[in-house]
Amino acid sequence: MANVNTLIDGAKKLDIDLDEGQIEKFILYKELLQEWNQKINITSITEDKEVDIKHFIDSIIPLKAELFKGKLKVIDIGTGGGFPGIPLKIMNENLDMVLLDSTNKKIRFLDEVIEKLKLKNIKAIHGRAEELGRDVDYREKYDVAISRAVASLDTLSEYALPFVNVGGHFISMKGPDVDEELNEGKKAIEILGGKIKSVEKIQIPDTDITHSLIIIEKIKKTPTKYPRGGGKPRKQPL
Ligand code: SAH
Repeated sequence: MANVNTLIDGAKKLDIDLDEGQIEKFILYKELLQEWNQKINITSITEDKEVDIKHFIDSIIPLKAELFKGKLKVIDIGTGGGFPGIPLKIMNENLDMVLLDSTNKKIRFLDEVIEKLKLKNIKAIHGRAEELGRDVDYREKYDVAISRAVASLDTLSEYALPFVNVGGHFISMKGPDVDEELNEGKKAIEILGGKIKSVEKIQIPDTDITHSLIIIEKIKKTPTKYPRGGGKPRKQPL
C-alpha cells in the first residue's frame, strides 16, 4: 500500500494538519495515480516520496495564501492529473471545484479519482480554457482560478482571468524566479482586468526548492473579445 508519511511531515512543517479521512484520500489518490500511470501517461512523477513533495505538498501550498476559506467556487486550469485541484479539495471539502483539461484521458482518470475518493461538488471537464472562458455558464463565475505548469503568465492570464468574477483572484503557481514573467505578463493582466496583488515565496519543506505564488486580483470585467481563439493566447500573447 502506498504511504504518505512524507506528505504528513511536510504538511506539519507548513502548519497544515491532515486528519485521518484526508490521509486515506491521499493514499488512495496516490495508488490510483500509480496504477493508471502504468497504462497511460498522466505524470512523470510517480515515486512515492516525489509524489508527496512535488505533487501533494506543492498543491496544498496555496492554502497558505488564505484565499481558500469557506465555500468558494474554484477552477483549476490545465489540471492534468488533478494538481493542484484534487489536493485542495481534499483539504477543504467546502470548495466547489471544477478541474479543466484539454486531454480526455486525464479527465477519465479524474472521474475515477472523484468517484473512488467520494468527493462531492467537484467535476472534471474536458475542454480548452480559451473556449470555456467564453461560455456564459463559466465566464466570470469563479472566486478563484488557479493553475500550475500550464503556460507563461501572459498566456495563462488570458486563459484564467475570464473565469474570475470581479473581486475574485487568479493564483498562478510558479517556480523560484518570476521577475521576467511578471514583466512580460503585466500588460496582459491589465488588459484582462487584473491587478498583481502580491507574490508569495514559499520553501517546500525538506527541499531547497522555493516556489512562487503570483496572486492577481480581478478588479474589472474582462473585455468581451478575450480570450481570443485560434491558439492566439499562446502564439501571440498580449
Ligand atoms: N497542472 C498539472 C498539469 C500540468 S501539465 C500539474 O501541475 O501537474 C499541463 C496540462 O495543461 C496538460 O494536462 C494539458 O492537457 C493542459 N492544457 C494545456 N493547454 C490547455 C488549455 N488551453 N486548456 C485546457 N487545458 C490545457
